[in-house]
Amino acid sequence: MQTKKPQIALVGGGLANSLIALALMEMRPEVEFILLEKDEILGGNHTWSFFNADVGPGILPWLAPLITCRWSAYEVRFPRRRRRLNSPYASIRSAQLDAVLRPRLGSRGIFGADVVRLTPTEVELADGRVFKADVVIDGRGPRHAPELVIGFQKFFGQVVRLGKPHGLKHPIIMDATVQQIDGYRFVYVLPLDDHRLLIEDTRYSDGPVVEPKDFKAEIAAYAEKQGWVIAAIEDEEIGVLPVALEGDIEAYWKNIGSIPQSGLRAALFHPTTGYSLPDAVRLAEAIAAAPSFSPEDIGPMIRRRSIDLWNSRGIYRLCNRMVFRAGLPSQRFKIFQRFYGLSHGLIRRFYAAELNRWDRTRILVGKPPVPFFVALGCIAERKKME
Ligand SMILES: Cc1cc2nc3c(=O)[nH]c(=O)nc-3n(C[C@H](O)[C@H](O)[C@H](O)COP(=O)(O)OP(=O)(O)OC[C@H]3O[C@@H](n4cnc5c(N)ncnc54)[C@H](O)[C@@H]3O)c2cc1C
Repeated sequence: MQTKKPQIALVGGGLANSLIALALMEMRPEVEFILLEKDEILGGNHTWSFFNADVGPGILPWLAPLITCRWSAYEVRFPRRRRRLNSPYASIRSAQLDAVLRPRLGSRGIFGADVVRLTPTEVELADGRVFKADVVIDGRGPRHAPELVIGFQKFFGQVVRLGKPHGLKHPIIMDATVQQIDGYRFVYVLPLDDHRLLIEDTRYSDGPVVEPKDFKAEIAAYAEKQGWVIAAIEDEEIGVLPVALEGDIEAYWKNIGSIPQSGLRAALFHPTTGYSLPDAVRLAEAIAAAPSFSPEDIGPMIRRRSIDLWNSRGIYRLCNRMVFRAGLPSQRFKIFQRFYGLSHGLIRRFYAAELNRWDRTRILVGKPPVPFFVALGCIAERKKME
């Protein structure tokens, strides 16, 4: 039975709410909160990566204990372009998030807690237990949303151990020299240590279906082509991330009602990569800095943040519509191949979702690598969905 009412109940112990919990413990140790997770671990089974520039130097110190791997640069490979960019990149393994955060949570972490009913101040579990708090924050992952039109970035990944060192110094964020099937296809490779790699086959695709058998065969063929002999497969992960094309963000929030949300559920993700870590760390900091904890304060703050970010990121949705609608799926790679010929600063700001006015112009001017008149047809963003 709940003894004392906490100020905050975090529903879901995934990326966003785990970061909120960590930020509260770091910055506001006096704030009482609980975290309710339906599984027995925090964060599921994920590798979350980000560029240091995406989160900013102020955030890195409290994120540092979670970081599993760091690199000083990354590479991209296309049929007509190969480039190394000196941007520091890092990854967080969910197992490390669990190992760092769970002991610190202590009795504040409630696991095996399947939440079936929420209000802005109350949570009910499948086993009938009820928890009250000054405010509930719902971070149960993505919500099906007809108000937002999305394409799919889907992938299947394997952590593999090789018989011999792979010799790869930096991650390959996109190797698009592979056969273009099922949309824009590339292989993503993270060197985890001298012998271990995370290899992901990724596709910017029109449909969300991932057939593991096919992806596994492609990963094996890719490894063989690189001369990597796989001794063991240690782990696998599967993902379908949203790529925002257009939508009505105000209607999205209207349909959510008054319960504050976090993470993907708050539509806080990069429109092109689907990555939510940078927005999640910033939201965690904002919540930890909030003057008071009530649905009336926290709810509108998150809603405003989500709507403002959505509105400021129209350029990304335009680029996404070009990728998904302006050319043949097999030619989508050309848009990224051209993009990676732009300046390093612009590319860094693109991933950090901090494009300036000049960057936006630079991305759009020049001969588009897709048919001109079809590209024109992509410019207008529909807000109202039929
Ligand atoms: C395979 C994969 C790889 C990704 N890689 C990256 C990356 O490299 N970088 C990046 O920034 N983003 C990445 N993303 C995108 C995004 O950042 C992640 O999906 C991120 O985990 C979303 O965070 P979240 O907190 O919104 O949801 P989640 O992390 O999915 O957390 C939701 C949590 O709620 C719990 N839950 C659900 N229902 C209930 C319930 N009824 N009661 C209690 N608990 C419940 C779930 O068990 C889960 O722990 C990736 C996504 C996937 C799927």
